[in-house]
Amino acid sequence: MKVLRLHAPKDFRMHDEPIPAPGYKEALIKVGSVGICASDIHWWRDGHIGSTHLSDPLVLGHEASGIVEAVGDGVTNVQPGQRVAIEPSKPCMQCEFCKSGHFNVCPTVMFFGTPPTDGCLREYIVWPAELLLSVPNSISLDEAAMLEPLAVGIYAVDLADVSPGETCVILGAGAIGLSVLQSLKAVGISRILVADPVPARRDAALRFGAESVCDPSEVHTAAKALTSGRGFDIVFECAGDAQAVRETAKLARVLGRVVIVGIPREDEYPFDAGNARRKQLSAIFVRRSNLTTERGIDVVLSGKIDAAGLATHTFPLENAEEAFTLAESKSDGVIRAVIRIHDTL
Ligand SMILES: [Zn+2]
Ligand SMILES: [Zn+2]
Repeated sequence: MKVLRLHAPKDFRMHDEPIPAPGYKEALIKVGSVGICASDIHWWRDGHIGSTHLSDPLVLGHEASGIVEAVGDGVTNVQPGQRVAIEPSKPCMQCEFCKSGHFNVCPTVMFFGTPPTDGCLREYIVWPAELLLSVPNSISLDEAAMLEPLAVGIYAVDLADVSPGETCVILGAGAIGLSVLQSLKAVGISRILVADPVPARRDAALRFGAESVCDPSEVHTAAKALTSGRGFDIVFECAGDAQAVRETAKLARVLGRVVIVGIPREDEYPFDAGNARRKQLSAIFVRRSNLTTERGIDVVLSGKIDAAGLATHTFPLENAEEAFTLAESKSDGVIRAVIRIHDTL
């Protein structure tokens, strides 16, 4: 089978490797669609995320869907032929955090496309069957791949503990920012400003229900207009950008909440200490998602969230380089570039 491995920054090489066999309680999945996340772009461009560096050639990709090809002994939840979204993290289930249900912060969690765990840019994968979520035929495999970023948005909104009528600003309108936006809309929040430097992403934010949008250079003027100078109840940082993080404390109201979802290129968050302190802000850092994918399926089925609108461009596995280049450039209206490993499913 074809397996795409990252050997060094911007050095993808296609390998031919044997199709693995599923073991006890595992399934073999024919991979359908894989979304390219900003974290994949960090690996591809920089060869590291924070202090974690690329060591052995790594298979990227964690936003994935597919069709069950075969199952090992002891599997009862899925059958061959079933369409599935794939949970990318495999927690240890033994530590104090797993035992209290905080699977996403398990210190030894394995996660697709993060060393030493290979991701999904390959034709087949074996993964524990209990980490597969069945999706109905009405959800395409591209949409099913978008359930992972959607789950992050839903989880960020959960952590923000939003109340009816609160005002929110979202900095960054990539797939995660737009997932946060749609998750806020799905729980009835409507007073939302979205700031992004890319005009096509501002247009997408308006389509997905933002009350107003602006370029980041105008965010303080727009904030004043939307909150009458009070500041936002909640600020979501989804740009993964130091300057955006710096703005969060300025944009939040007194006793407001700042929710940091983006991954910065440098391993630090530059806060405006004066504002953060004087306003007594609460900062919430979001680690991926936890148990929110099933709700993602429900809100997509109910029509409250548009997953298809996130998957704007598709490429075959052979053109992964082109897909990553487009995703990095944020040009041509791209929200998520999606690799269709098997296009005919
Ligand atoms: Zn991701
Ligand atoms: Zn654990």
